[in-house]
Formats: sequence, structure tokens, C-alpha cells
Amino acid sequence: TTTFNVKAVRKLFPILQTPANCQPLVYLDNAATTQKPLSVIQAISDYYQNCNANVHRASHHLSTKATLGFEKARQTVQQFINASTSDEIIWTRGATEAINLVAYSYGYHFIKAGDEILVTILEHHANIVPWQQLAKATGAKLKVVSINTAGELDQQDFHNKLNKKTKLVCLSHISNAIGTINPIRQLIKEAHDVGALVLIDAAQSAAHTKLDVQALDCDFLVFSGHKLYGPTGIGVLYAKRALLDMMPPWQMGGEMIELVTLEDTRFNRVPFKFEAGTPNIAGAFGLASAIEFINQFDLHQVTQHEIALASYAESLIQHLPGIRFYSKASNRIGIVSFLIEGHHPQDIGLLLDQQGIAVRVGHHCTMPLMQHFNINGTIRASFALYNTTQEVELFASALADICQPATMVPRHVELADNEH
Ligand code: PMP
Repeated sequence: TTTFNVKAVRKLFPILQTPANCQPLVYLDNAATTQKPLSVIQAISDYYQNCNANVHRASHHLSTKATLGFEKARQTVQQFINASTSDEIIWTRGATEAINLVAYSYGYHFIKAGDEILVTILEHHANIVPWQQLAKATGAKLKVVSINTAGELDQQDFHNKLNKKTKLVCLSHISNAIGTINPIRQLIKEAHDVGALVLIDAAQSAAHTKLDVQALDCDFLVFSGHKLYGPTGIGVLYAKRALLDMMPPWQMGGEMIELVTLEDTRFNRVPFKFEAGTPNIAGAFGLASAIEFINQFDLHQVTQHEIALASYAESLIQHLPGIRFYSKASNRIGIVSFLIEGHHPQDIGLLLDQQGIAVRVGHHCTMPLMQHFNINGTIRASFALYNTTQEVELFASALADICQPATMVPRHVELADNEH
């Protein structure tokens, strides 16, 4: 592993050299999507320049090259999460599609009236809506685990809501809205003790923690490439082989078949059974490259850097009048989620943007969590490996200016004046 050096890392990301609103870009919206290093951008264009062809089909040079790269990428993902075989890696469009695959394939076939599905109040809509709708369609019951005032999962509530009727537990590893890291290893074990299967939403954790599906013993795990310095439109479903074998396909078409007659179809083997149609081949090349990128670093060191930036940001803004933090769990990633009384989050987002600072404002696709807090949304600054202490200081001073308009000297206005 390379010793982690922020200055050197920043140079690998072309977009960080590009201004935003005439200011140096300060990108603090990494929980929504991360920026891409040049190596990933090149892996995608290399694919189109040098091996573009459809996979698993024609017997020509380019098709072989594309297929080999595509399947090698699957092995890269397998090793990244320590799955026992690459057959357990299904390509999807992202975490959302991976969860839908499980809901439509496993859920609609194996969940029955009276069964229970357990989610948590921390979940992203992608890990609530498919289960809520599945429950409505099947007559199953959706139960929701609550959190304590620090935004940590209430483990007693989790324990109380598990029982023999619980068939599925769908749980985020890390909350995208407030950064809480859930103790998933322990929770998976508890769920297995009552015979439930567990789906882990690792969308927010793949870039911050080492994932080991065998050590975790989770039944399903999903993540998206684009939150891991990889491209959009590619993601992964990991599932235990035995489950994949018993699950029916959910989308029908080319690739997923072995034999088709007008009367019937014999399906392809796992994993292809779940990959109907031409896949996102370039995306798979890009994701493999992103994994190689992240593998250069000690992920623990990276995450400590991000957490230190978040703590520094908190320390600089905590004295602002009316500030209220929602990211308060003792075990969390580098996310600062907050509100400032008297200031609409949208206004803050806009004013920060005018200074080149990108944050996310709103409900973060976690409306039930916002309803739990009795708010409409928060302002969220989320940190990645390329963020710096200087950026934190720019963010904090911009926020201070916004909160004390009398002393505000917006940099963009100065710049605009100079242009006249
Ligand atoms: N789960 C979590 C925790 C997320 O943060 C996100 C993305 N914000 C998703 C699921 C959905 O990921 P995607 O939109 O890439 O499918």
C-alpha cells in the first residue's frame, strides 16, 4: 500500500483542478457520489478504444478481449469483498437495482403473508421502498428498528423486533444521512439466530471500510461503483451461491438464457441468470479500475483522515448560533449533518455553492429518518480521501459568513467585479 498523501492524491483527480463558480472547487458531497481518478476515466476510454465488443457472444478477437476483461473485473470485485467465488457477484446498475433484484426475485417468491421484514429508520429509500411495496403485495409485515438520540441503532429494539417470523433483515452498514456505522457483524449473527436472511446495504461503506462477506456471513450485500471512485451505472449484488441457485431470474432476455424455444426457456447458470441484456461493460472495467485505485491505500488510514476532517469541521462550526448536529453517533464516518436555526438549508447550499463549495442539502433519500427527527432535511458535508484541512477551513469560514451577513464579503462578488 502507498503511504497516504492528500496532495499527491488530489493530483490524480482532474475535476479537482476545475473551478466551480469561478472558485477552486471544494467538493464535500462525496456521500452522493465521489469524483473519479484519471485511472478510472482512462480505463473506461481504454475499453471503448481498444476492446469494445459485446461480451459472452461472438467468437472474434475483440469479443474475447471484452469478455476476459469483464469477467476479470468480476473477480476483482470478488476479491475486494472476499466472496468465495466470482459466481456470487452479479452486475447491476447500482445498489438500488441490486436491492430490487433481491426484492423481485427472492422476495416475491419466498416471502409470504404473515412473514416479517425488518429494516431500520436509518435506511436510504432504496432499502425501504422495495420492502414496503413487497410487504404490501404479499401481506408480509414491515417492521422498523429505531435509533437513540445519538442516531445509533437501538440494539435492544432490534433484538425485540426479531422473531421466528422475521424472514429478512435489510440493514445499512453506514447511514448516508448521518454517517452512523452499524455493528453489522453482531446484528447479522442475531438475525441468523432466528433464521432470518440478512441484506447489507454497503453503498456508503465500500469506500470507507474493508468488506469481507465471508467473515460477516451476510446473505446479500449491495453497493454502487460511483460512491467508490468508480463510474455511475454499475454496481454489485453479492449473494450466497445457494440462494442464487434457488432464486428465479427477475429480468428476461438475452444473456440470461441457455436454450429458448417458443414453448419454454432454460435459464443460464448463475451469475448470468440474473444479467439479462447487454451489461454495462465499460462500467465493469471502470469499477475494477476504481477498486485497484482504492486498494493502493490503507483504507483505515483513509477513513481516519476523513473522520479527522469531519471532526475539524465540527469544531470550527459548532459555535455558530443555532447550529444543531444530527451526525452524533460515536462510531461514524466522515459526515457532518446539521441545521442552522433561522437559515433554510437550500439557502445555505446555494450560498456555499456560490463560493465553490459543494454540499448536499435536503432529505438525502431518507425521508423517514427526517420525519423521525421532525425536520425536512439537513445540510450534509461528506468527506473523501482527497479533501484537505484547508477545504474544511474554507467551508467553515463561508458558513460563518452566511450566518453573520453583516460581515459577509462573498469572494464571488469580488471576482465578478474584477471581470467588469
Ligand atoms: N443506500 C445508501 C446507503 C446510499 O447512500 C445510496 C445512494 N445515496 C443508495 C443506497 C442507492 O445507491 P444508488 O443510487 O447508487 O443505487
